[in-house]
Amino acid sequence: MKTKKQKDKILFTPGPLTTSQTVKQAMMRDLGSRDSEFIAIVNEIRQKLVELGQANPDEYTAVLMQGSGTFGLEAVVSSTVPPNGKLLIIINGAYGKRLAKIASVLKIDTITLEYPENTIPSLREIEDALKADKKITNVSVVHCETTTGIINPIKEIGEFVAKSGASYFVDAMSSFGAVPINLPECNIDYLVSSANKCIEGVPGFSFVLCKLSSLKETAGYARGLSFDLLEQYQGLEKNGQFRFTPPTHTLAAFRQALEEMETEGGVKGRAERYRKNYETLLEGMRQMGFKEYLRPENQGYIITSFLYPDDPNFSFEKFYENLNQKDYVIYPGKVSDANCFRIGNIGRIFEADIKALLVAITQTITEMGIKLK
Ligand SMILES: *Cc1c(COP(=O)(O)O)cnc(C)c1O
Repeated sequence: MKTKKQKDKILFTPGPLTTSQTVKQAMMRDLGSRDSEFIAIVNEIRQKLVELGQANPDEYTAVLMQGSGTFGLEAVVSSTVPPNGKLLIIINGAYGKRLAKIASVLKIDTITLEYPENTIPSLREIEDALKADKKITNVSVVHCETTTGIINPIKEIGEFVAKSGASYFVDAMSSFGAVPINLPECNIDYLVSSANKCIEGVPGFSFVLCKLSSLKETAGYARGLSFDLLEQYQGLEKNGQFRFTPPTHTLAAFRQALEEMETEGGVKGRAERYRKNYETLLEGMRQMGFKEYLRPENQGYIITSFLYPDDPNFSFEKFYENLNQKDYVIYPGKVSDANCFRIGNIGRIFEADIKALLVAITQTITEMGIKLK
């Protein structure tokens, strides 16, 4: 039984996110990892993920990987760059930097093209970099940089990568399922997302959508055992099983989450709800006098960064705590050159939740004595 104290707060964050009751309920059972019912769940999830990527199952596959989203990123970086390969990482935020950190820990030869967090990477410079350095074998970029909410042009970048012959890896952690992505059209070889972002499952695994012809060329590349993407794929293909203990409960919840996504109208339906959340939030915040960090043309509908108000009474810690007391959880900023906080538009939240949050923010700034206009 839930007591008043255990009431779930509403999460306006980049994940884990608010999930439906029915997704949580789907976890309430113990499934054996070799049970035929569980294996059927895994197969169904893998198939549906390929469909969400608008890809042909003869050409693409979904490899599930235990752990959070970063584990999926590490699986791709560690298993798909050839032993003497060179990785180009396009960076305009903290998650691009994380990819560079992974490559550095793995001692992979890496070059980066780095841009300010409010700026779309230059396609021209990417094209030039690929032309100038023929040693580049792999290219990585983040789709929605959750640092700010900026959306990077993965299709346009993919065209240059394809021309260069390099392998293309997109971190679409916070966008997959909510922003339409056509894997073959974007020339994507590997795309990573996780259970607890826009598909609205609970945390516990990430998934890698892989172009089969590329994946099959990576034998011997892996720099670790648990993260070996090709072996994980081969294990799943052989008997439908994970090589090591799978997050059975999380997978059962995820299957339910996929079903609820279909009911909502798939990626399109989800995109509409999140966009409505975003528009409602932006309008309400602007009315109060808050200003967003990004220019509107660069801003996606996943998460929004707002600048701290220019008022000595504002303290993020107090603002956060006050909202938290009202059962609304927002998120600190991650931008390096501006003081921001973030509000996520994703998860099982609706326009009514955004409106309730706006009321709580209005109350909070009044209580804190902040004047915005
Ligand atoms: C959430 C997120 C990650 C990291 O995921 P974890 O589950 O915290 O490991 C990576 N990249 C992007 C773009 C994200 O939004």
